[in-house]
Amino acid sequence: LKLLEDKIKKEGIVLPNNVLKVDSFLNHQVDPKLMYEVGKEFKRLFGDLGVTKILTVESSGIAPAVMAGLAMDVPVVFARKHKSLTLTDDMFTADVYSYTKQTSNTISIAKRFINDQDKILIIDDFLANGQAVSGLFDIADAAKIDVVGVGIVIEKTFQKGRKLIEQHNVRLEALARISKLTDDGQVEFEN
Ligand code: 5GP
Repeated sequence: LKLLEDKIKKEGIVLPNNVLKVDSFLNHQVDPKLMYEVGKEFKRLFGDLGVTKILTVESSGIAPAVMAGLAMDVPVVFARKHKSLTLTDDMFTADVYSYTKQTSNTISIAKRFINDQDKILIIDDFLANGQAVSGLFDIADAAKIDVVGVGIVIEKTFQKGRKLIEQHNVRLEALARISKLTDDGQVEFEN
């Protein structure tokens, strides 16, 4: 998505450890018009798959996921990261190692918001090593629901996330694909 690449070039900040900071339009402040375009692009890419529900992870997946849900006219459920203090019988959970925070999180989704008839599209802001998306696959497996696609806003293709997700044999699309973050702060995209 050209608009997205331009925004990344203009406002993305390269941090140490191959982290791209995009808090001016995605991870802190949100650019609604750009997210609306992101949502429509996800519909174009996944609109033929009969998706009934979108799953994402709080908090940074919510903005693009909601816009995709709006474009595709399906509900959006985000996995929560904090541990519930009440009974977890009614929750599906998975452990996820966070690339940026270097800590492990338990993510959870209430059982009542997904059922085995659903066809799921997973959406997330970044694909790095694939841990967040894998956690959502774990939950989908536990819930015996079908994941039909994975939509990513920004993929770092030099990390191993795509390899991991491709094992699930689903359509995987990323709207911006970064091949390199250079030491002098440049962002290079896959052709
Ligand atoms: P993964 O689970 O694929 O290793 O990493 C994906 C998650 O880590 C995303 O949900 C995102 O929150 C975070 N993340 C990974 N790489 C980056 C990055 O370069 N920049 C930002 N802002 N977040 C990242």
